[in-house]
Amino acid sequence: MFTLRLASGKEARILEGHPWIYRSEIARVESEGEPGAIAEVRDSRGRFLGQAMVNLKSQIAGRLLSRGEEPIDAAFFERRISEAVARCGRSVKGPDACRLVFGEADHLPGLIVDRYSDLLVIQILTAGMERVRDTILAALRSAIQPRAIYERNDASPRKLEGLELRKGFAWGRGETGLWIQEGDLSFFVEVAEGQKTGFFLDQRENRQVVKRLAAGREVLDCFCYSGGFSLSAAAGGAAAVTGIDLSAEAIAWAEQSAERNGQSSRCTFMIGNAFDALRAFDREGRRFGMLILDPPAFTKGKEALAGALRGYKEINLRAMKLLAPGGILVSCSCSYHVDSPTFLGMLRGSGADAHREFYLRELRTQASDHPILLAAKETQYLKCAILEALN
Ligand code: SAH
Repeated sequence: MFTLRLASGKEARILEGHPWIYRSEIARVESEGEPGAIAEVRDSRGRFLGQAMVNLKSQIAGRLLSRGEEPIDAAFFERRISEAVARCGRSVKGPDACRLVFGEADHLPGLIVDRYSDLLVIQILTAGMERVRDTILAALRSAIQPRAIYERNDASPRKLEGLELRKGFAWGRGETGLWIQEGDLSFFVEVAEGQKTGFFLDQRENRQVVKRLAAGREVLDCFCYSGGFSLSAAAGGAAAVTGIDLSAEAIAWAEQSAERNGQSSRCTFMIGNAFDALRAFDREGRRFGMLILDPPAFTKGKEALAGALRGYKEINLRAMKLLAPGGILVSCSCSYHVDSPTFLGMLRGSGADAHREFYLRELRTQASDHPILLAAKETQYLKCAILEALN
């Protein structure tokens, strides 16, 4: 039997509910299986801790699938998927979109499943999940009955697991561009070419906050992608909205969605570098009643943290200077390695340098269909601070 024996004392974190076993925590491997195979995990005294998908080539060598001894078969994955889709306010039918499976937080490590209307998009990030890909596809078909399943297995973390990058239909065929509904708004989503799996589902609840606060304000949405925050602000009664993104494709999708929602006259989308745009608006003496910053992750690792913080500081400082008195700054970071205290510290520094005083109205996080497992801090990555300028 393929078994991982942990080094002495290394079971504590796992007993607290964390699902990962680092390579450095393993004392001995018995009857080693292929990358991704299931192994029993035992502590240094031989006590059974659970069953994990194991890839000894990866730093995260084991990902716990179960703390029990049940067979890990098709019925197991069917159960796990039905449990996941039934929690966190998710829905399996309708024109809307949501995340149905969020990896470790749904006890399905390495698996992401997003639903865009009748199309499912999956992302497999580990060798373990890759081995059971067909079982997962069958379980998703029976639980959700989608029109098709598209695979966005072109995410770079796959390389750490020794997996190739690829994308395409895993089952079924049809259009990869489609309309989804979020509240009163329609958004165009292109699952084959878009970022992540096509849309930033994790910001859904934060878009509602923007909608609530935008009335009458002139809004600048930097890093606007396909216009999620921009159109939410417009729908909330913003006086005018400017969205900026580097990607010409994203801007075309934003324009298409503005048109569909009857918001074209209030929204202007521009292809451009947000850093330059913030500088240019300052030179022109422009002021905004609401500024939204939702940049890409400036760092994917711990090493580049200092550089990332300089990037965050620069845009936040510039944004704070551009805010009209009483203005709202919605500032986000999706870098897991920038934790909440560090993020707030950066905002404090920016506020001081901008000589502005702010209320921290809310410190928000990812939408509830991206649940945060208390025992696994890695499942929380998004920060979204809602700041209000006092003066
Ligand atoms: N707010 C969006 C998601 C933003 S993702 C939403 O809720 O849908 C980050 C975006 O930043 C991407 O669309 C990417 O194209 C864009 N981007 C990256 N670097 C940029 C830069 N320097 N200037 C402007 N946009 C940039």
